[in-house]
Amino acid sequence: MTHKPLPTLPILVENAATATFDCVYPTCGGSCCKQGRPPVEPGERARIEANLPKFLPHLRAKARALIEARGFVTRRKKQGNPMLAVSEGWCVFENQGCVLHKVGAKEGDRFQYKPWACATFPLDRLEKTDGWYVRQWKRHGEAWDLFCLNPKESKQPAVKTMQGEIEFAARFDAGEEAWRGGSVPKPPRKGAAKRKPAQAKKPAARK
Ligand code: SF4
Repeated sequence: MTHKPLPTLPILVENAATATFDCVYPTCGGSCCKQGRPPVEPGERARIEANLPKFLPHLRAKARALIEARGFVTRRKKQGNPMLAVSEGWCVFENQGCVLHKVGAKEGDRFQYKPWACATFPLDRLEKTDGWYVRQWKRHGEAWDLFCLNPKESKQPAVKTMQGEIEFAARFDAGEEAWRGGSVPKPPRKGAAKRKPAQAKKPAARK
């Protein structure tokens, strides 16, 4: 059996050779935003707040009412940051897809308003290293039973189907997303690409 060479990646992906993933939205109904409670960095929160009038007309009626009454974040925190609110079982910004994504895409950058935890999904950062990994069932204690994180769900190499997310992660490594602030991963140290990723953290569920 012959193996095709992996595409050259702009970031370190620990399980690049084995991870599979294929986003089937809208067939899945956007399951990854159900009960979506991603943490929001200070810069992300400020940007969403400043652009809220663009998003409100596109939201579900109850989600819009909730945001207008109580705001889009709650007192609950994850990784030190407040989490997005949920309405009718879905992230307040979900309405037949992510409204933050759709408005951003229309303006030319689909990730400019989304929390980075959503924009990189299912990539996650390895702790204490400068690398990333693709979330897969049981990998680094992955507890979320979301069907598309099952490595047997798709035969598609994740590095092939997630090129946009990988390019976005490369923007982190280049320090271009520092405006988000808070726990945004720092750019890697010089020479990091030659080092092997070490022990990873236990991941928190994105949502
Ligand atoms: S911000 Fe968008 S991508 Fe993230 S959970 Fe909410 S609807 Fe989903």
